[in-house]
Amino acid sequence: MMGEPRVLRAGMQSALRLLFPPQCISCGEPTASDFGLCGECWRQTPFISGLVCDRCGTPLPGEEEGRAEYCDDCLILARPWERGRSALVYRDNGRKLVLALKHGDRLDLARPAGAWLHRAAQPILRDGMLVAPVPLHWARLFRRRFNQSAILSKALARVAGLDHCPDLLLRARRTPSQDGRDRDGRFANVAGAIRVHPRRRGRMVNRDVLLVDDVMTSGATLAAAAEACLAAGAASVSVVTLARVAKDS
Ligand SMILES: [Zn+2]
Ligand SMILES: [Zn+2]
Repeated sequence: MMGEPRVLRAGMQSALRLLFPPQCISCGEPTASDFGLCGECWRQTPFISGLVCDRCGTPLPGEEEGRAEYCDDCLILARPWERGRSALVYRDNGRKLVLALKHGDRLDLARPAGAWLHRAAQPILRDGMLVAPVPLHWARLFRRRFNQSAILSKALARVAGLDHCPDLLLRARRTPSQDGRDRDGRFANVAGAIRVHPRRRGRMVNRDVLLVDDVMTSGATLAAAAEACLAAGAASVSVVTLARVAKDS
């Protein structure tokens, strides 16, 4: 009798593999592993590695020399958070995967994306961090039915073994879309638009917070979210995004 459920489960898994062989999450071709990309799509997906801006994770030219470097944007713009990383550059397959997660019902992307976020965030993770998504306004949430950032933050928290608080932050007011605005317009549009959920504040006070979003463009939304956390008593805020819109890409 001992161990029988495990044997049954293993048998069930191989039966499922026969029925549904693992597919590439990007092109649908059969792959060797579950929840991943085939070799060809892997090569076409701009994963970020090497020297990056310590505040936003954008790739930088040059070699890593063990000290923090910053991109031009992060030297100029107010970044209320401490450190940031991103898994992908927002172009080619990186863009395609983000859009699939945002607009399609592609919840199968969550698990690989969680693993990519975990790898990217590794240098900035701290024990006891509280992981939380950047909030979507409820009206948009209603239309879209889910917040892609919350799906990402949940997947990341699970692999990283950190606490997750999906409703730590709320949209205090409705903000029109950021699309089509220049950088100053984006910052003005979301300033003060995010606040900490009054009933979740206790979980966050004096704690390091890791904010998760799908894409970082200007960083305005992340700045509004980080400011809300710090104003409500977070010890520190760091950020991680699935993709970073990088200049010249
Ligand atoms: Zn593929
Ligand atoms: Zn930067």
